[in-house]
Amino acid sequence: MYSLAFSILFVSFIILTLLVRFWLASRHIRHVLAHRSAVPAEFAEKIPLAAHQKAADYTIARTRFGLLTLMVNTLVLVGFTLLGGLQWLSLQIFQVTGPGMTYQLALLAAFTLISGAIDLPFDYYKQFNLEQRFGFNKMSKGLFFTDMVKGALLGAAIGLPLLWVVLTLMAKAGDLWWLYTWIVWSGFQLLIMVLYPTVIAPLFNKFTPLEDQSLKARIEGLMQRVGFASKGLFVMDGSRRSAHGNAYFSGFGAAKRIVFFDTLLARLQPQEIEAVLAHELGHFKLKHIIKRIAMMFAISLGFLALLGYLKTQPWFYDGLGVNPVLLPGQGNDAMALLLFMLVLPVFTFLFNPLTSIGSRKHEFEADAFAAKHTDARDLVSALVKMYEDNASTLTPDPLHSAFYDSHPPASVRIRQLNLAAQA
Ligand SMILES: [Zn+2]
Repeated sequence: MYSLAFSILFVSFIILTLLVRFWLASRHIRHVLAHRSAVPAEFAEKIPLAAHQKAADYTIARTRFGLLTLMVNTLVLVGFTLLGGLQWLSLQIFQVTGPGMTYQLALLAAFTLISGAIDLPFDYYKQFNLEQRFGFNKMSKGLFFTDMVKGALLGAAIGLPLLWVVLTLMAKAGDLWWLYTWIVWSGFQLLIMVLYPTVIAPLFNKFTPLEDQSLKARIEGLMQRVGFASKGLFVMDGSRRSAHGNAYFSGFGAAKRIVFFDTLLARLQPQEIEAVLAHELGHFKLKHIIKRIAMMFAISLGFLALLGYLKTQPWFYDGLGVNPVLLPGQGNDAMALLLFMLVLPVFTFLFNPLTSIGSRKHEFEADAFAAKHTDARDLVSALVKMYEDNASTLTPDPLHSAFYDSHPPASVRIRQLNLAAQA
């Protein structure tokens, strides 16, 4: 009874999510098309019509591609769950390995490989057709496949030991396994944040200390003004992969690094780079990053507690097309993890606007911080260049934007910054 009710609930949420996503995408495409013929008045002097139209075409192409992958992913999800894909896969593996840890790790590894293989043609198409068509792809096919192999090896090297720990806790730590798992998981996340800039990122990109002395002096002046300590300024060879540009800082405590994409340095004036960095430092100084991490930890605690309950409920498995095996040591735990990670996004999608609202509030605050410590006009001109270079649309559908975008639309941000510049 419960199983059937849960299946129906699951299907209803899938349909609801699909409808909302299609509706938002079609609104977005119509809105962008309707504004394609003219650059919005406030940008008319800064952005040429050809760039505006390229952004419209790029936005539409990406949105359509998003719908295609959405449909495929939904079919894959239903195939794995209700149509019995996971049940079949687990039986095949079980026949080879028998019960135990090997079976569980093999099941998770096999699932990851299969979904990776399904995603591969789409990732390839996106990079070498979509991004290529708009001049953003700078990657060779060799690099694409090297990245893929490196990513898979790294994922196995980090993921398998972590899963082994989690599965051991699930099997042996009693009813509160989810609490211990949460502690391990949180510690692991912090460790990755520390290791990412110095160990993981350099596997994929080259980082060289920023050499431009006058820019360096300018940035160090800014860091001193706002009271920010960093382990160094680095330039990343983002141009090996993509023409999209960015700046970020990563790491923790005294190990923080500021990283500029070479593509960004090539395009922005020193005072614009300073303004962009001031925005990023604003996120740090206003404790946005700490708040985001705390939020992430709180949410994962809630989800793990939920999984702690679901793992013992036969309807959770049955309702998702899998035979529940609730005998200890028979290896139900990997299946519980897998099902949970697969279906969770279906139930959380409609909460997306909440995270967007929080993130936009932080963006406005970081912009205000930058306006206070640098010249707001420099951030405006940097934003205009970044929008143009990334072919980001200036005319998103407001609802689509409210649902998905972590950043407010350019026109809104720039209006605020212009007000700050006049004040
Ligand atoms: Zn920001």
